[in-house]
Amino acid sequence: MPSKSKSVFDVLVVGSGASGGWACKRLAETGLKVALLEAGRPQSDANFSEHKPAFELKYRNLAPDIVRKTRPIQSKFDVCSEYNYDWFVNDLEEPYTTPKDKPFDWMGRLRMTGGRTNVWGRVSLRFCDTDFKSASQDGYGEDWPLGYSDLAPYYDLVEKYVGVTGMAEGLEHLPDGQFQPPMPLTCQESFFRDRIKEKLGRTATLARSANLTRPLNGRGPCHYCGPCERGCVTHSYFNSAFTTVADAIATGNCTLISNAMVHRVLMDPNQSRARGVLYIDRQTHQPHEVIARVVILCAQAQESVRILFNSATSQYPNGLGNSSGVLGHYLTAHVRSGGGNGDFPALGGKPSRGGPVKPVGIYVARFRNLKGQQPHKKFIRGYGYEGGSNLDFNWDADGFGAAYKKAILEPRVSFELTGFGEVLPRWDNFVEIDPNVKDVYGIPVLKIHMSDGENERAMIQDMGDSAGEMLEAAGAKNIRTHAHPSAPRWALHEAGIARMGADPKKSVLNQFQQTHDIKNLYVMDASGFTSNPCQNPTLTIMALCVRSCDFLMQELKQGA
Ligand SMILES: Cc1cc2nc3c(=O)[nH]c(=O)nc-3n(C[C@H](O)[C@H](O)[C@H](O)COP(=O)(O)OP(=O)(O)OC[C@H]3O[C@@H](n4cnc5c(N)ncnc54)[C@H](O)[C@@H]3O)c2cc1C
Ligand code: SF4
Repeated sequence: MPSKSKSVFDVLVVGSGASGGWACKRLAETGLKVALLEAGRPQSDANFSEHKPAFELKYRNLAPDIVRKTRPIQSKFDVCSEYNYDWFVNDLEEPYTTPKDKPFDWMGRLRMTGGRTNVWGRVSLRFCDTDFKSASQDGYGEDWPLGYSDLAPYYDLVEKYVGVTGMAEGLEHLPDGQFQPPMPLTCQESFFRDRIKEKLGRTATLARSANLTRPLNGRGPCHYCGPCERGCVTHSYFNSAFTTVADAIATGNCTLISNAMVHRVLMDPNQSRARGVLYIDRQTHQPHEVIARVVILCAQAQESVRILFNSATSQYPNGLGNSSGVLGHYLTAHVRSGGGNGDFPALGGKPSRGGPVKPVGIYVARFRNLKGQQPHKKFIRGYGYEGGSNLDFNWDADGFGAAYKKAILEPRVSFELTGFGEVLPRWDNFVEIDPNVKDVYGIPVLKIHMSDGENERAMIQDMGDSAGEMLEAAGAKNIRTHAHPSAPRWALHEAGIARMGADPKKSVLNQFQQTHDIKNLYVMDASGFTSNPCQNPTLTIMALCVRSCDFLMQELKQGA
């Protein structure tokens, strides 16, 4: 028999990452009693190692096999290393499955307070009406049930709190925000920016990023040490563990329950209402129930949808919120396997060991299929690029002795561009429960079906070609481009498997991320995205979450 919590909470939030942190902060600060259930351990400054040299590690960060043993999937992305691999899910204990012909690397699965925001790349970009209303423009898929003007005040609110360094550009398709002063571009980045604007009319701007350049709410400005994915003792990048979640707990209204792996939402069979959740304690493997008036899932898109499927009852045999049959379908995640690199002159720069490291590069704004443009012949929607320059020693220099010592000091500057492209929401990219496999806690796992379509393949090719075109326009030498099919598929920006929509027959959530079927059940992570525009998703996840919390508070005031 599961044990029951003594308290009954107003709201129960599952997951403490980008979305869950905001839900807790917004609701606890208005006086609601919130329980935050997080599968991972508590996070603290004592775990941060951004200033620790590799020689202080047991294996000097030189034994990837040690990490791979328990994190064969997580360690495929280099942010999971000997420094921090115990923040990530143990892939053997918490597996998922895929069809044999559709391998998918589900990376960035964190098990710490703060979720993915512990290690994220921090690029923070707004969506625009071309994104929210893309179906009206090109006829594919569905428009979002809200527009830019609905979200703009929430983008403002979130950016001011998070602290986003950025440059205003006045572009309609990449709206400006409430920026902290910009981190400087390198000489090569400025050079690239000027040349591609002049020759191709494209905009390369500072990658708008959740790194502080001014003090904010007790957090210090960035001191350019580099590896943000290992934590930050000055709290200079945005991680919900030391921002939103800490604020929520400081109110005295938010109770963090760590190591709580939520298995299912509990339903009141007589009222079609959620009444709490059942979770498994990850340390004791014992079940517990927590009761609340409202349940909000913020466990990251696939994890939240897994909970909805695992919560099926005789009244809801296909999973909660799934009267439309759409739950689990339209999985999207950016493709990023097209791009290029080239060499630039050093322009007076000198390489150094242990010098400052700028944690932010550039972002090239989308330039395909914008409003009023001739549509591209081979694909719809668009892509942007992340990239930047890297000044290093000439490690490949030839020779020996004094000649080698001299040659190695010759600065080398490489310039990299990686495309991030929109993936169309397609019915046949989906997740479901695998009836044959359970995780170590006895919870059925997901089976993920995901592959690229024709639109993605054509877009990736164009990402490679356009990267070459821009590098050439900027005067780079030794240009190399790439445009691989993204197989195995992998992702860090998954979205769309409990989509929002105005029509309950075609969607799971309304525009406030409330399930159409169960009025006190919300899903406030990216699973609600109706489409997944090429800009990175997290700023929009957070803005939507705050907006939905404001709606929820109104509902509660009206006694819903
Ligand atoms: C390496 C990397 C780089 C990235 N770079 C960027 C970027 O530059 N810009 C950008 O916009 N986005 C980026 N992202 C994506 C970004 O981190 C996510 O979009 C964002 O964190 C998602 O927020 P979330 O609240 O949905 O989930 P998360 O932040 O992942 O939080 C989910 C939390 O829920 C918990 N949880 C899961 N299942 C359960 C359960 N059953 N019970 C209880 N708790 C559970 C998890 O432990 C986790 O703590 C990056 C991600 C990674 C991994
Ligand atoms: S680069 Fe800046 S934000 Fe990143 S860990 Fe260092 S000080 Fe913190």
